[in-house]
Parts: sequence; C-alpha cells; structure tokens
Amino acid sequence: MSTIAAISTGMSPGGIGIVRLSGENALEIADKVFSSKNGKLLSEIGGYHALLGNAVDENKSPVDEVVALVYRAPKSYTGEDVVELNCHGGLFVTRQVLRLVLQAGAVPAEPGEFTKRAFLNGKMDLAKAESVMNIISSHSQQEMKIALNTLEGALSKKISQINQILISASASLQAWVDYPDDEIEELSNGELVKNLNKASDELENLISNFDSGKAVIGGVRTAIVGKPNVGKSTLMNLLLGEDRSIVTSLEGTTRDIVEETAVIGSATLRLADTAGMRSSSDEVEQIGVDKAKKWLEGADFVLAVFDLSRELSDEDKEIINLVKNKKSVAILNKTDLEEKADRNSIIQNFSDYIFLSARNSEDRQALCEIIEKVLETANIDPSAASLINARQLACCKSALENIRQALDDLENGVTLDAVNVTIDSAIDELLVLTGEKASDSVINEIFSRFCVGK
Ligand code: GDP
Repeated sequence: MSTIAAISTGMSPGGIGIVRLSGENALEIADKVFSSKNGKLLSEIGGYHALLGNAVDENKSPVDEVVALVYRAPKSYTGEDVVELNCHGGLFVTRQVLRLVLQAGAVPAEPGEFTKRAFLNGKMDLAKAESVMNIISSHSQQEMKIALNTLEGALSKKISQINQILISASASLQAWVDYPDDEIEELSNGELVKNLNKASDELENLISNFDSGKAVIGGVRTAIVGKPNVGKSTLMNLLLGEDRSIVTSLEGTTRDIVEETAVIGSATLRLADTAGMRSSSDEVEQIGVDKAKKWLEGADFVLAVFDLSRELSDEDKEIINLVKNKKSVAILNKTDLEEKADRNSIIQNFSDYIFLSARNSEDRQALCEIIEKVLETANIDPSAASLINARQLACCKSALENIRQALDDLENGVTLDAVNVTIDSAIDELLVLTGEKASDSVINEIFSRFCVGK
C-alpha cells in the first residue's frame, strides 16, 4: 500500500503544524526530507522516539526546524509505520514541508484515510472509527464524553454482546435443523424466544436512547417559530449568547434561515431563525417563509414564541396548531411590557412553557433548564453504550425488525431453517454496524466524510 501524507493540524496558523506520513516507506521518505541535529536517521530509531532537526529541501537547505516523531508498525494510529513532522505552525511552512514529503514519494492522503487504514488494519472497528469524527466535531462536554466512550468500545462491546446472543441462538437452531435425529438436546422454544427477546430489548433500548442522544450528539434540529415581531431573532441571540441574526422592529426582515449551533447545558440545538410565519406579497420574503415551513416540518424540537404585549391573533393560533404534534416549549415573551395577551389560551396548549423577556440575559438560565428538561438530555448517561449516527441507528433498526420477524415466525410455526435465515440477517446487520461485514462502498462513504489528515 502506498505511503500517504497530509497536514493533520487545522488550516489556520497555530503553535505547531503536523505533517503526518503513514505507510511502509514512511521512515525512508521522511529521512529524505529530514536532517537530524545528531546525525541519526529516523529509520535507525525505535518507535515512540523523536529527533530534533531540520526539514530540508532537495538542495539540503533548511526549510524549517522540526521535531520528527516515529511510531513503528503495528504500534501506531494506523497500524503502519508513521512519522509526524512537527513544524512551526504557519500554514505556508507546513504546506512547504508537506510538498517536500510528497516530492520524496508520498501520495496525498484522502479524507479520513489515516483512520480508514487504522480500521482496515484492525486497530479499531467501524463504530470506534466513526467516534473519532464525533470527537473532532463535538460541541459540548457531554457529546465529547459519549464519543470518547464509543472510541473506548462501549458501543462495540454492547453490539457484540447482542450478536453473541443471536449467534448462539442461530448455532443451536442450525444444529437442530441439520441433525434432527441425533441426540442433540431438543431445542427449547422457550429458551430461544427468551434469548431473542433479550436481544430485541437491548436493541430497542439503544434505538430509543438515540432520540434523546440526538440532542447531545450532533444537535437536535430546532425551529424557532412565531409571527413577525414576537422576538424570535432576539430569542435566538439569547440562546447563542451573542448577536448573530439581524434584529429589527420592522416586520419581516429576517428573510432567510440562519442556522447556528447553540450549546444549552447538556443539549446542543441546531437552530434556525425562521422568517415571520405569515403569507407575504413580497416574493423574497415569501421564499423565506416557505423555507421556514420546510425547516419546521423537519424539526424535532420547536420553540414557539408569543408576544405577551399584544393581543393574540389568528396567526398565533395557527402557530399553536402547527406545532401541536411536535416536542415543543412555548415562550411567552416580553414579560417586561404590559400584558395584553390571554396567557391561558397559550399555555393550555403546551405541556411546557416559560415566561421571559428575550432581551434579558438573566432569563437565559431558566430557558436552558426547561429545554434540557424537555429534551431529557441531563439524564443521559455518557458512559452507557450509545448509537452515535444515523447509519448505526439504521443497522440496529433492521436487526430489530429481523428479530421481531423471527419471533413472529416461531409463533406461527414457520420452519426452523427459515427462522434461522432471518436471525442470520439480524446478525449481518450488526456486523455491518461494527464493520466486520460492511461493503467497500459503505466504508468509503463513511471515511469520505472525515477531514483530510485524520
Ligand atoms: P422576530 O420578528 O420575531 O424575529 O422579532 P425580533 O427578535 O426582531 O424582535 C422584534 C422587536 O421586539 C425588536 O425591537 C426587539 O428588540 C423587541 N423585543 C424582543 N424581545 C423583547 C422583549 O422581551 N421585551 C421587549 N420590550 N422587546 C423585545
């Protein structure tokens, strides 16, 4: 396999810029561009050792002073020989060093290729590899803890336990199907059903926790809705803690959707500040309204804003109807002004509501508390096994469907070999989750979403 190289640090100037090489010629290539102060070659030193020296160009002129770190296969991130050249963290300098390494024979790494090699070399399974991406993109402490816990194997362990139950069920079924006349202990339906139910309970648990987990991992898609001028943009800014979207007292000025991520204690909201929800004759504004409706349709959580200082209108009632079947919190805004709205006609429609002034930053805490309560994020145990993305969820759902089918079939007297085929499909789904049976296209798709250098 080729030796790959990429800049593994961020694309902005920093203290250190790291050019990473991985592959069987990593040491040899690095030796061509690195000249140590003590005259030693990188290929002469052991793993977990470092040398100070210069990155040098083809004329042996120094380009930068660097520290070269050596990891020997298989004890490296990728499982291959790895060299990390730690340069001064300017983008230009780091790119120059990368250029030298590529000239010396390395090929540019694809996005996520280091982690992909780690996966292919058996250093980590697919669930763990995916968690690396979650660690990099995490927004909150809770999210980071869950991702780290997945990297350390909590999910992989849970999935393999479930699969073990299914594999033994399948093995005993198979033995009985193959040798019905032999003295194999008669298959007890009761035991089989008990085991299948156990596996299905475990999967149901993982799946149902995914929803509340979503509010922690990646963020829950949240819509702020309300008629024009009720204070949606002000509320969004209160949540974000800074001025992001345009706030104005003119109706209908927030014309497009601005998406932002707000960390609310243990919850992460993907927020959209939606344009005033009303029909408009202004074409541009109408586009904003349509986008807002689309966003609302796909939202898993809604903050419905009402202006207490104005009497409720039909538009407010429309909003109440619109969010009826959504997980939501009613925000009764502008408590600092004289109250003219009939508060009861709002709160009777919501199980969760809060009175506040979006202009008052002191009200943020209470708002955060109610959001965390409704999203149930505070109860999430970051040390428990959690599904961390939609792919893993889909695998668990298919596995669960197959197990349920097998249970139905057993009850309806379907032949045991047919039942076994269904159990095997459930096993396969879980093997796809951990990557033991994932197709090349699935694997490529997963790693293509990584950044270059990871
Ligand atoms: P949107 O159209 O729903 O996004 O409303 P904005 O956030 O643009 O707010 C409309 C107007 O109401 C602005 O002048 C805000 O400053 C004002 N406003 C928002 N929240 C409050 C509040 O709690 N109290 C008072 N007095 N004014 C508010």
